[in-house]
Amino acid sequence: MSDGSVSIKQLVKTYVDDRGRPTFTAVKKISLNIADGEFMVLVGPSGCGKSTTLRMVAGLEKITSGTISIGSRVVNELEPKDRGIAMVFQNYALYPHMTIFNNMAFGLQLAKKEKEIISDSVGRTSKALGLDHMLERKPHALSGGQRQRVALGRAIVRSPKVFLFDEPLSNLDAKMRVHMRSEISKLHAQLGSTMIYVTHDQVEAMTMGDRICVMCDGNIMQVADPLTLYRQPENLFVAGFIGSPTMNLLKGKVQKRDDALYFVENGEANALSLPLQGRLASSAKQYAGKEIIFGVRPEHLSDEAKDQSHVPITSTVEIAEPMGSESLVYLKTGTGSFIARIHGEHLYHSGEPVTVQINLDKVHLFDPQTEKAIR
Ligand code: ADP
Repeated sequence: MSDGSVSIKQLVKTYVDDRGRPTFTAVKKISLNIADGEFMVLVGPSGCGKSTTLRMVAGLEKITSGTISIGSRVVNELEPKDRGIAMVFQNYALYPHMTIFNNMAFGLQLAKKEKEIISDSVGRTSKALGLDHMLERKPHALSGGQRQRVALGRAIVRSPKVFLFDEPLSNLDAKMRVHMRSEISKLHAQLGSTMIYVTHDQVEAMTMGDRICVMCDGNIMQVADPLTLYRQPENLFVAGFIGSPTMNLLKGKVQKRDDALYFVENGEANALSLPLQGRLASSAKQYAGKEIIFGVRPEHLSDEAKDQSHVPITSTVEIAEPMGSESLVYLKTGTGSFIARIHGEHLYHSGEPVTVQINLDKVHLFDPQTEKAIR
């Protein structure tokens, strides 16, 4: 049975210059376990160490310290070709002088597989990818989407235990990206192989990953399934990174009045004051009199009070972006502005006073010092 699990332990990468002097630590002692057959996405802003991590799994980058295991084998010292992996890159990395057939067959030919096996495998895979009628063409005669499919096909025919993807869709136009996204997800469902997929695009991460590993500055910020990341971000970074438009984060204090707790936003005019009840009150208790960050996603504001967890706030419209079925409405608050994503076809105007209902069940609180979620 193929064991395509990947285990990363205390992995560090410090780049060095020509003389071996350390220049930059791109990966800072990260640990991550990926199950056999899992689709794991590494996501984070540019420069956070995603590709470096993937390239160390592939064997294309030397590890500074730590271990990487594929199945039960530590692969630290193994050549890329002996690791049971296949990699798909952003720039496709096809051989321009070879036909599509030969591009796909090359790895198998190197491995000295029999001709019939190669032709059978390339035939089946190219058919599944809709490339079977263009096997004699060269890469220059293909569109970007077709080239990326050849790169996928070349990986598939090798039957790797683990597929590694490095921003494979970045060079495609928006429509083709969405299409290839679902192709790769289907492929994962069919093959059941482990896939590790690097992207800076949180929508790609959310739509494709069984689990997502959010990285920042060479560290792992949170690893969870897409809904858990959305519902329970563990820190300010994940809260701000997942979701679009991004979560509203307001600075303020917890105030105790009589026996009740309130979040009171910093600033004078338009500063929000909101009751903290139930779950929020027990989390905020230890912060009475102290600073706190209050987070709410734009979609958790609406124009109607649905139940008791909805509390009205009144403000002024700064600008509104009508999008047909919904509007993004920017509201003025004490220290800045606040985005509400409001369903319906109502047209909002700048300067107009407006009351929106905030769903306190969906609010997040963060410690401004540690940046961690307060639960
Ligand atoms: P990501 O894939 O998240 O965009 P990378 O893993 O490519 O990030 O790079 C992480 C950090 O390491 C970046 O700041 C990058 O500039 C740095 N880096 C990458 N390659 C080298 C190198 N050869 N020497 C020094 N620093 C490097």
